Amino acid sequence: MGLVSPLFPFDNSYARELPGFYVDWEGARVPEPSLVLFNTSLAQELGLQTSALETPQGAAIFTGMVKPEGSSPLAQVYAGHQFGGFSPQLGDGRALLLGEIIDTNGRRRDIQLKGSGPTPFSRGGDGKAVIGPVLREYIIGEAMHALGIPTTRALAAATTGETIFREGPKPGAVLTRVASSHLRVGTFQFFAARGETEKVRQLADYAIARHDPDLADTQDRYLKLLGRVIERQASLIAKWVLVGFVHGVMNTDNTTISGETIDYGPCAFIDAYNPAAVFSSIDHGGRYAFGRQPMIAQWNLARLAETLLALIDPDDLDKAVERASSELGRFPELYKSAWLDGMRAKTGLQGKEEGDQSLVEALLTMMQNQNVDYTLLFRHLAHAANGNAEKARALFEAPEAFDAWLIDWRERVSRQNIDHNATSTNMNQVNPAYIPRNHKVEEALQAAETGDYTLVKQLLEVLRTPYSENPAHEAYANPPPGDFGPYRTFCGT
Ligand code: AMP
Ligand code: MG
Repeated sequence: MGLVSPLFPFDNSYARELPGFYVDWEGARVPEPSLVLFNTSLAQELGLQTSALETPQGAAIFTGMVKPEGSSPLAQVYAGHQFGGFSPQLGDGRALLLGEIIDTNGRRRDIQLKGSGPTPFSRGGDGKAVIGPVLREYIIGEAMHALGIPTTRALAAATTGETIFREGPKPGAVLTRVASSHLRVGTFQFFAARGETEKVRQLADYAIARHDPDLADTQDRYLKLLGRVIERQASLIAKWVLVGFVHGVMNTDNTTISGETIDYGPCAFIDAYNPAAVFSSIDHGGRYAFGRQPMIAQWNLARLAETLLALIDPDDLDKAVERASSELGRFPELYKSAWLDGMRAKTGLQGKEEGDQSLVEALLTMMQNQNVDYTLLFRHLAHAANGNAEKARALFEAPEAFDAWLIDWRERVSRQNIDHNATSTNMNQVNPAYIPRNHKVEEALQAAETGDYTLVKQLLEVLRTPYSENPAHEAYANPPPGDFGPYRTFCGT
């Protein structure tokens, strides 16, 4: 790694404050760095000089070949429960934290390379990434952001000129990822599993300073930190479920303290509504199925709680367990009320009425039984609010049950002191017309593997404004063609 002039105003608190939580490391040399995508609007939000980065020098930085001035690249250590089994030694096996910068809104953001070569935590892996999964993370992360869901962001995607073998030869690539932080439940687990309570305390204090500074120096701050993470995750998972997102690999090392979605591997959006939907080729038992995500998040949060017990009450473990359990016990209600409020918005219901949950559940049950497209239904229901139910009706093979439901729904909506047009407009502001449909993502990624990025760029453009319909983008709103078949995704390795 050579040195270049200051392009990133780094301020590296993780490197400075947490020695022993990482190893210093550098990116691998690669034959031919080339910038494929650069996120100009994000770069501007970060306060970066975009013109200096959309250059060969930028490509060298975004592949890890050249170290930007002020960077102290490092690989973070962590542990994690993967599919329920504990791995005590994980860590950035193919990623490097370049450093942190304070963005134009005063927020501290991590800049991380993913795919930049092997590290001491690679565990036999090659430390590399290939173009398909890199662009997949770019596309889906940016789509999630546009949908208003907390997420890591993509700043750049660059190819390395290497050929990497996965299911055949693939172009090597590196993703530059931006995050509120890369602190995970698994980071806490690494030190807690080794009985290093002081390290867990140091990490918790760092997390508080970074994500919940109002808790610093307050009484019971570690219990309160747990409560905040529970609140953020409950809100996050509700947003996933409301939009039909399946993460696919909700291991504790992929569960953030910040409440951002992280690590887009075998993730996908559902087309037809189905709580049992699983896309990941390695999730044989359906552990991370669409409808199980709230339960899994709560399980992951219990693993975080365990790591904090010695801090919550150093003198009385039983008391610590009791207090942590009572925080965890808040999760189901937090999740459910976030979800139900979101479903009310999706169905155009204002205020809260006793029967809302059963009304919403009756709709979902019908959708499940009749394989109704989740995204289209809510979009078409907005027309029904305006009196035209035909499009929504046409999504059902046997629409009689839906007709009966519409009568109840119209009755509920008509009690609202708001005209039908406004209800319809409100619904369209929360129900996306465009999500990253699996068949469109696949089509774009296949073209990218041959070096043609046109479809990826088009898809990104459509997904930037998911709520505003554009007749020219109709193909992106439609469910997959009948011959697309069941969709399988692979871990982004
Ligand atoms: P993930 O499933 O992507 O969250 O990764 C789980 C763990 O495997 C992390 O510690 C990664 O750093 C590591 N890992 C994934 N892919 C590779 C790879 N190609 N080379 C080295 N380590 C990897
Ligand atoms: Mg991960």
